[in-house]
Amino acid sequence: MHQLTLAEIARGLADKKFSSEELTKTLLARIAQLDPQLNSFISLTEDLALQQAKAADARRANGESGALLGAPIAHKDLFCTQGIRTSCGSKMLDNFKAPYDATVVAKLAAAGAVTLGKTNMDEFAMGSANESSYYGAVKNPWNLEHVPGGSSGGSAAAVAARLLPAATGTDTGGSIRQPAALTNLTGLKPTYGRVSRWGMIAYASSLDQGGPLARTAEDCAILLQGMAGFDPQDSTSIDESVPDYSASLNGSLQGLRIGVPKEYFSAGLDPRIADLIMASVEELKKLGAVIKEISLPNMQHAIPAYYVIAPAEASSNLSRFDGVRFGYRCEDPKNLIDLYKRSRGEGFGPEVQRRIMVGAYALSAGYYDAYYLKAQKIRRLIKNDFMTAFNEVDIILGPTTPNPAWKLGAKNSDPVAAYLEDVYTITANLAGLPGLSMPAGFVDGLPVGVQLLAPYFQEGRLLNVAHQYQQNTDWHTRTPTGF
Ligand code: GLN
Repeated sequence: MHQLTLAEIARGLADKKFSSEELTKTLLARIAQLDPQLNSFISLTEDLALQQAKAADARRANGESGALLGAPIAHKDLFCTQGIRTSCGSKMLDNFKAPYDATVVAKLAAAGAVTLGKTNMDEFAMGSANESSYYGAVKNPWNLEHVPGGSSGGSAAAVAARLLPAATGTDTGGSIRQPAALTNLTGLKPTYGRVSRWGMIAYASSLDQGGPLARTAEDCAILLQGMAGFDPQDSTSIDESVPDYSASLNGSLQGLRIGVPKEYFSAGLDPRIADLIMASVEELKKLGAVIKEISLPNMQHAIPAYYVIAPAEASSNLSRFDGVRFGYRCEDPKNLIDLYKRSRGEGFGPEVQRRIMVGAYALSAGYYDAYYLKAQKIRRLIKNDFMTAFNEVDIILGPTTPNPAWKLGAKNSDPVAAYLEDVYTITANLAGLPGLSMPAGFVDGLPVGVQLLAPYFQEGRLLNVAHQYQQNTDWHTRTPTGF
């Protein structure tokens, strides 16, 4: 039963082959047995899950249907869940129980999804390896000595290991697409504003976006359908109707114009990944797509711009964790300044502290123009590059990551080495565009992802291309040994 996709689960539940309660119990037992190897969950919510599963079974018995009704999922531990610990992977929020549900959590619960637990993540979603969590590193099910990617690495590892069919993630600079690529999943970062950020603990508000991680594009369509939509409680949510994503999956790719940026194939890209990307291009050509070389000339500036903007926003967002209102408070503070200093010094890990310092520096008088304002200008140039490219092509294709999953600890002493891994993903966040990563082969037994980018609100096009590719390839069906 643990091999079933969301789409197969929906059919099985509709045909009464099994109940949501049976499925939920099976998966909870599997998590208890296998997760100690992976560390992909921070909290399990067994009682809630069984209660939601029974309620979903009752709704089905009453004639209700729906692709998510009775479907087991998990939430990255930065989506607020009422009465349940919402830690953001940090000691700072280890004792924090959210007083309300995030919009995404509430919407999926209303659609009948069953929450099995909260998944491990890099602290405050800062990272590309899932090693900065207060709850310890997550392991990659394809090789337990390697990282699963981050920051949604817990969601990715759990879904890749067949502990559950799908999970939510968030993507500020690649944290859905990159762990999807490194664990052989399909992951989608929607257009900025497509999915509500209400109740999603903020890292960099102008970049953060929630989205689905699953094994297939078909399942991403199902989960995104449950997550997307206008939310008046999020001032950056966009009031645009949500199309039927599952209905878009079967469109023909005949004549689809795919742009491949020449800048993607620079020296930093593992040549074996480059070969797999070109193989995926050949596959899409067979389905009728037309390939065109394009240029994204400002791509080289993306990492420096992102690593000014994201920390700047983080330094502001994280100022609320002051030891006074909620979260960690140090013992016996001598005075107010001591309370702030020690609560933040003890509650935040080193990577979070590094980002707060970089961000506060970039925003300070005298440096604002030189760093923050410059970075915002680069951001506009990057967006303009995409707008020019999308005049000529329907989709942009390339690698999701320059390398396969690295060994645990390999980049810990050099934060910049880890930042360079984000080179292909962060431009979509800077421009607010939707992006998807899908499985495209293996290097040394480790999965490789191909990334697709589309114009604003064209999530359906991304899912269509990925689904057609998955109908003709079997990379996405490969299962890690031992799981
Ligand atoms: N690796 C990037 C960072 O650390 C992206 C993280 C994310 O998307 N949340 O900022």
